[in-house]
Amino acid sequence: MTRTVIQCGVLFDGRLTPPRTNAAVVVEDGVVVEVADLTEVDMSTATAVADHRDATVTPGLVDAHVHTSWGRDDQAGWDWAGTSAVGHFAWGLAGARAALAAGVTTVRDCGGPGLVTLQVRDAIATGLHPGPRMRVCGPCVTTTAGHGDFIGVTADDVGELRKRVRELTVAGVDHIKIMATGGDMDPHTNRRRPQYDDEELAAVIGDAHRLGLTVVAHCNATAGIRGAVQAGIDTIAHCNWLGEVEGTIDYDRDLARQIVDRGVFVDLNVAATIRPLAEFDGLEEEWEGWDLPPANRWELHREIRAAGGRILFSSDEFGEDLATFPQLLARAARELGIATEEVVHRASDVPAQALGLGTEIGTLVPGRRADLSVFAGDLRSDPDGFGSCREVWQGGIRVVRDGAVVVPGGGPA
Ligand SMILES: [Zn+2]
Repeated sequence: MTRTVIQCGVLFDGRLTPPRTNAAVVVEDGVVVEVADLTEVDMSTATAVADHRDATVTPGLVDAHVHTSWGRDDQAGWDWAGTSAVGHFAWGLAGARAALAAGVTTVRDCGGPGLVTLQVRDAIATGLHPGPRMRVCGPCVTTTAGHGDFIGVTADDVGELRKRVRELTVAGVDHIKIMATGGDMDPHTNRRRPQYDDEELAAVIGDAHRLGLTVVAHCNATAGIRGAVQAGIDTIAHCNWLGEVEGTIDYDRDLARQIVDRGVFVDLNVAATIRPLAEFDGLEEEWEGWDLPPANRWELHREIRAAGGRILFSSDEFGEDLATFPQLLARAARELGIATEEVVHRASDVPAQALGLGTEIGTLVPGRRADLSVFAGDLRSDPDGFGSCREVWQGGIRVVRDGAVVVPGGGPA
């Protein structure tokens, strides 16, 4: 049996509780067995000690919205990677490795070219290549002339939607990603209108659930959010509450209440959430019952947050930019004015629940798998420490040391 004591200057355990100082996480055979004050821990039986008394320890971060094997044309290397399936695979492995080195131990991929993300997932699962645990949807499902149609599979009616869900199930995906509304990066789509009607959303979500898969719906427009929630959606991505008329937000308080009551996860991409609403989405003039109109998407979700809604933070990043997730969390802590424990909670425990892994990972409490990340300094006073990942542990094994990926034996992977 191995018994590792990880000494922590500051410890965020992933729950919405204040951090502990001078704490220790005790790990036996890859599982957290005790979290206690440093002075209370029996060091005599420890087979290894990791001294992070000058640093901050968090659960391994969980980024529930990434595109590991997809890229932007301004990313170094993408020109080459975007040309072939092998390129997408190599790009995905590089992204996975970069995410791990930055402190991310689990990701949910929300769309890539073909089935390459399944291959990246499986390559990492062999243990031969370093990376976070992955949950993948393969390609996203969208309409002809729909959002992301160039990286997705198309389905234009109920029959086609059921067929796509069944084909992806056979291929081995972990969840389904549906583009319920248009987006802002393609020439054809309308981000302010749904792409699927209520019957179509009910077909895709119902069939996925029957087959044991959860569904993530990309939703810019409020009408798409409404259709997805009524159909039993698991996660609403973006949740932008766009009105049909350009320049309007169409926030619906009753629908927000349903999101909370039904336990729907709301996936907020940090960078877009910080950006001023008026800059991009427009604003309604009347905000009944609100003292001040919301300045950004975070404030737009203040009623859902106050009611205990399951809001998670994600990066929505591509390839090696997956590594920026912790830096985005530093921005959330600074610019959204929320406590670091809430930032960590929304980037570990909540997304772990969204992935159906809430009893295995996402928090550092006895019985959980010992996935944890160590960041320089004290994140309470200096959130920028999120950008300096010192160590990462997966299942009680140190896989990143001094910011570099290592194999368990200690050499470079
Ligand atoms: Zn995305």
